[in-house]
Amino acid sequence: MKYTLIFFLVSISVLAQKHKTLVVLVDGIPFDVIEKVSTPNLDAIASDGGFAAAYVGGEKGGVSESPTISAVGYNSMLTGTWANKHNVWGNGIKAPNYAYPTFFQLARAAKPALTLGIFSTWEDNRTKLLGENKAETNHLHLDVKFDGYEKDTVNFPHDANREYIKNIDELVVSKAVESLKGKEAPDISWVYLEYTDDMGHKFGDSPQFYDAVSFEDHLIGNLYETIREREKSLGEEWLVVVTTDHGRSEKDGKGHGGQSARERKTWIVTNQNGLNTRFKSGLAVVDILPSVCRFMDIEIPQEVAGNLDGQSFLK
Ligand SMILES: [Zn+2]
Repeated sequence: MKYTLIFFLVSISVLAQKHKTLVVLVDGIPFDVIEKVSTPNLDAIASDGGFAAAYVGGEKGGVSESPTISAVGYNSMLTGTWANKHNVWGNGIKAPNYAYPTFFQLARAAKPALTLGIFSTWEDNRTKLLGENKAETNHLHLDVKFDGYEKDTVNFPHDANREYIKNIDELVVSKAVESLKGKEAPDISWVYLEYTDDMGHKFGDSPQFYDAVSFEDHLIGNLYETIREREKSLGEEWLVVVTTDHGRSEKDGKGHGGQSARERKTWIVTNQNGLNTRFKSGLAVVDILPSVCRFMDIEIPQEVAGNLDGQSFLK
């Protein structure tokens, strides 16, 4: 009887400590736009944790200055370093330096049993940035993956208005929700959504762009509802981080890539409320890797830690 009780208590405490992470990157939404457009679902996440301005682009004028270009920003989020280290300077992703590991790779090395998932409107995120199954990433394996739909022109014929990207974002989130509801929900997942950037490029600062932001907010709400349900029913604790990869041009919001204040100024939303001073001052996209590792209790090898450009915003 006594032993049964102890076993029961130990089981409960193990369950209570089960940590999981969801990182969402929504493409190309400047800080001023996320403030201007009504985003009730992001607000709900922020009210559990926090919302703050952040930056991308490295140190302006310094060695780490990095183009405010999509894949450059994604890889700064994934590796906790700027482009002078991770070596992704554009969307061609010509020669990433895998010596700067992603948090997926650190997770795999430190805790091989953790399951990893990606749900993405761009296949290169898995094949090139995460470097799935490459010798340089120790043949990183993703346990759950839904991506590559942008290459399926039969089911997603490419239209000039990029409706097919909107449809793929929706499908990607529905696949993520399905997976996150299941018993085998990945311990660490990355959801990548593109439609906002397409509307920004096409229409700039416009109702079409703002509508795209609302659309993504709605999808993020579906993800967060699923996670809150799991927290309640399974006693898990989740880290949710939502961010973007760059702002947009001052002039009309169509372009990005430069070092203007609007292109560099982004934002981070999290559901965690144990936030330190970094969250309110100096927060950057490179802080996401150390935060994920802290939350997941993933040990960062000394040689990797010494090269990080970010620091945890979680206490
Ligand atoms: Zn982008």
